[in-house]
Amino acid sequence: MLLHDYKVTKVGRSLCNPEWIAVRAGLGDDISEVLPYLNAIVKNAVYTPEVQNLNFKIDTGAISLMPREINVGQVTCEEDGIKLLDYVKKLINDTWERRTSISPIYERREEIKARDILDFLPKTNCRDCGLPTCFAFAVALLKGQKRLPDCPALSKLEFTQDRETLGRLLQTGITEEVAK
Ligand code: SF4
Repeated sequence: MLLHDYKVTKVGRSLCNPEWIAVRAGLGDDISEVLPYLNAIVKNAVYTPEVQNLNFKIDTGAISLMPREINVGQVTCEEDGIKLLDYVKKLINDTWERRTSISPIYERREEIKARDILDFLPKTNCRDCGLPTCFAFAVALLKGQKRLPDCPALSKLEFTQDRETLGRLLQTGITEEVAK
C-alpha cells in the first residue's frame, strides 16, 4: 500500500456555484511515484511532471493530486467529498499494486486545452477581465494574452485552490502575485 491515510485539512464552498464543495486532504505518504502510472491509465489526466501535479475529472467531481495533497471539488456535500477522497485513495493503491503491468508515462500526454483551464475558472462570465466569457479568458491565458491576475475573481480566498491549480497547469509563478 502506498497511501495509508489522509486527513481533511479544509472544506470550502464554491463562490461560483454555491452548490459545490471543495475538500482538501493532507497525505500521510508521498504519492509522487504513482503519478506517472495514473497518467498512463486515467482518462483525460493532465500531468505536469515539473511540479508533480496530476488533474482529472470523473462523473462525481474534479480531482487534483500532488505529492502530499489531494484536492477534490465540484461535489455537492462534504460527505460526497470524503467518498471521492476514498475513491482516489483506492485508485492510488490499486494502481500502485499493479504498477508492474503498467507502462508509466513521465510526460504530459497532450497539450493543455482551454476546457482544462476553464474547469478551474469561476465560470461566472462576469467580464471583469475584459473578455466576454471565462472560456475566452482560458483561451487568452493559453495564448499568453492574459495572466491569472487579470481575473479579479481568482484573487478571492474561495478560489485559492483553483488559482493554485491553474498556476501549476500553466507552470507560472504568478499565483502568489494574485494573492497579494
Ligand atoms: S474575470 Fe473573466 S475569467 Fe474571471 S470570472 Fe469574470 S469572465 Fe470569468
